[in-house]
Amino acid sequence: MIDLHCHSNYSDGLLSPQDLLNRALDANLRLLALTDHDTVDGVLLLNQLNTSADLRIINGIELSVRWRKKDIHMVGLGLNLSDKGLHFIIEQQQLNRRQRALQISEKLEELGVDSAFLKACELAGHERIGRPHFAKVLVNENKVKDMVSAFKRFLARGRPAYVETHWIDLDTAVDCIQAAGGHSVLAHPLKYKLTQTKLLELIKEFKDLGGDGMEVVSGNTSEKESYALALIAQKMELLASSGSDFHGDKMSSTSLGRQRALPLTCRPIWQQWIA
Ligand code: AMP
Ligand code: MN
Ligand code: MN
Ligand code: MN
Repeated sequence: MIDLHCHSNYSDGLLSPQDLLNRALDANLRLLALTDHDTVDGVLLLNQLNTSADLRIINGIELSVRWRKKDIHMVGLGLNLSDKGLHFIIEQQQLNRRQRALQISEKLEELGVDSAFLKACELAGHERIGRPHFAKVLVNENKVKDMVSAFKRFLARGRPAYVETHWIDLDTAVDCIQAAGGHSVLAHPLKYKLTQTKLLELIKEFKDLGGDGMEVVSGNTSEKESYALALIAQKMELLASSGSDFHGDKMSSTSLGRQRALPLTCRPIWQQWIA
């Protein structure tokens, strides 16, 4: 089993890299990519921690990207972690992430939540704040009953605490991953609520820019969805990737490495790493 998409507490996940590593070893995973949002700090640590010859760490990231006013996600796999361009982009993304967090905090203040940024930082244990941290603050303050409601009422696009962010564009993201020696993968294509036409436009644009693959299975993707995505991958000549998008037991319904298998027609992007 493999997992090429998950999160640690270096972004919005709950587990430390050490805990994730233990889970991966318990689950007998052969390949694990930690793909935190706009940071590789957890991956650096994970590499130092892993001493198992049976588990291979694939250096990963999940980049936030702006495409036609939508926030989409691109996974980078097999990155050279000392690439300067990659770190430049990460720094830029983190500045924008921080700026956005402060703006979200201001909006939440107007909605009756004091010091949301500080509270989010306290929960996170760092300052790479994402919307899930604010969702937790909203739950703790009894503004909503759970994280899903926090997004629905406050944090999702079009809701009162949503803030547009200057994430990098598709072109920059593909180039950055390629320049760092990695493979670019369009993450969870069905999560963006795009019409079929727009989704195909996004995938074509990504492919034309030099994109390598797309996630055919992500988290709790259904069998039907995975077959539909496998067809698109085949038609677009994209490799197929697969990951749980695990954020921790309380945040994810699919555990590490427990996502369904790829349809047999797919060409797995990880073939190159399990020779
Ligand atoms: P951010 O990168 O700060 O915009 O946060 C994006 C993250 O928020 C995603 O990776 C998910 O972990 C989480 N997320 C996005 N939409 C929702 C939602 N509707 N309900 C729960 N979590 C969500
Ligand atoms: Mn996340
Ligand atoms: Mn994502
Ligand atoms: Mn993710």
